[in-house]
Amino acid sequence: CTVAAVVVGWRLRSRMKWKRVVGVLRELEEACGTSVSRLRQVVDAMAVEMHAGLASEGGSKLKMLLTFVDKLPNGNEKGICYAIHLGGTNFRVLRVHLGGRRSGILRRDVERMPIPQHLMTSTSEDLFEFIASSLKQFVVGEEEKDSELSSVSRSELGFTFSFPVKQVSVSSGILIKWTKGFSIADMIGKDVSECLQQAMAKKGLNIHVAALVNDTVGTLAVGHYNDEDTVAAVIIGTGTNACYFERADAIIKCQGLLTTSGGMVVNMEWGNFWSSHLPRTQYDIDLDAESPNPNDQGFEKMISGMYLGDIVRRVLLRMSRESDIFGPSSSRLSTPFILRTPLMASMHQDDTPDLREVARVCNDVLGIPDVSLKARKLIVNICDIITRRAARLAAAGIVGILKKIGRDGSAGVAGSRTKAASSGGKLKRTVVAMEGGLYTNYTLFREYLEEAVAEILGEELAPFVTLKVVEDGSGLGAALLAASLSFISTDT
Ligand code: BGC
Ligand code: MG
Repeated sequence: CTVAAVVVGWRLRSRMKWKRVVGVLRELEEACGTSVSRLRQVVDAMAVEMHAGLASEGGSKLKMLLTFVDKLPNGNEKGICYAIHLGGTNFRVLRVHLGGRRSGILRRDVERMPIPQHLMTSTSEDLFEFIASSLKQFVVGEEEKDSELSSVSRSELGFTFSFPVKQVSVSSGILIKWTKGFSIADMIGKDVSECLQQAMAKKGLNIHVAALVNDTVGTLAVGHYNDEDTVAAVIIGTGTNACYFERADAIIKCQGLLTTSGGMVVNMEWGNFWSSHLPRTQYDIDLDAESPNPNDQGFEKMISGMYLGDIVRRVLLRMSRESDIFGPSSSRLSTPFILRTPLMASMHQDDTPDLREVARVCNDVLGIPDVSLKARKLIVNICDIITRRAARLAAAGIVGILKKIGRDGSAGVAGSRTKAASSGGKLKRTVVAMEGGLYTNYTLFREYLEEAVAEILGEELAPFVTLKVVEDGSGLGAALLAASLSFISTDT
């Protein structure tokens, strides 16, 4: 009788704890809500902030940076070019052989390596010494393979640098701030190309930096090279950002801007976008406060690969503190960034009936053994909420750009989306180039994003908009731009 009472009492207590966990889950679900009407508010806010950022320097949290890229590659580029790409996680070196209109890209050699962790917080000298020596190794290897190369006296290079830069020209610019966990204080305010140029000279490399571009700009260049209807590029990887082609007269903060094409690519730095319409939770607020760049990159912290796993970790930590569903609390759950986003994705997309992958990650990474099936399902649910919110917010950002440039069907027909759609002729095929590991590798993220773009646009407009993955776009794009800007671009 007493044994039965103990069992009943235990069951009651554990049911109450489970109830509390379900409460936390419901609260999360509600706080992360992204109804279409809310997403439309984000679309409008994005378009408004774009206008403000173009109107004056510092007019918005969106920096809307000039790139001095006023013409995108069209396929006529010829010659051999090097490119390097410093992203958030990887470093890449490429050699590209462009064959002009008829032959296109003849050969593309790529070498990639992870950026050594300690370099992300060391000095600019260390970072650029690493970049220049990796480049040298690559160049020497290429010259051994192809003797014709060593006869070239000076090579041209495109440098993709995936951080906010205030460009001075198409080939130089000053670092504004670091993002994505990088923090090298002495680099801020320095000319990025000059640092590279000096480091290369020390290694005896006779290479000229012909283009300095953001990764989104490289992606747009390749997207446009492949498909001329490409008007914007979006990266969703470790960090997130977008760029697009803007009319020169719309860039009000730079009156009288002269460009050969009447327009220029603008690097939005949308990772720093902020709006009160964004569905923010206490987990986001805590993550931001504990980050090396508080009050910065608010949109990025809700969307990109660097952060999604850590938001999930924070939810799990709270649940483990308020209940015993994960057993005795694991100290690993309180370790920041221990749950990387690729692992979160593999739990989320676990298709085994007993969620074996979830159990494995819990055990091996989070230090939680023997998780019940019920708790595993709960974890999948949390991953789903966080990823769905991220993907849908990015979708709203994309439609915001389309709205700004009049490609969302509302151009000239204020307030009437359907009228524009049915008026015919007005709608143009619109392509957005997409890159970044989160978008390309995380299937559910991609599906949620695509679904949300279609939902916001509506069924009449959605068929005109295509999201196209551009592989290795950021690095290749810098090579294309370097080629189109330097003397080796000939047949036009
Ligand atoms: C940087 C951008 C970059 C993006 C994607 C962000 O953190 O600020 O410049 O384009 O990450 O790599
Ligand atoms: Mg990248």
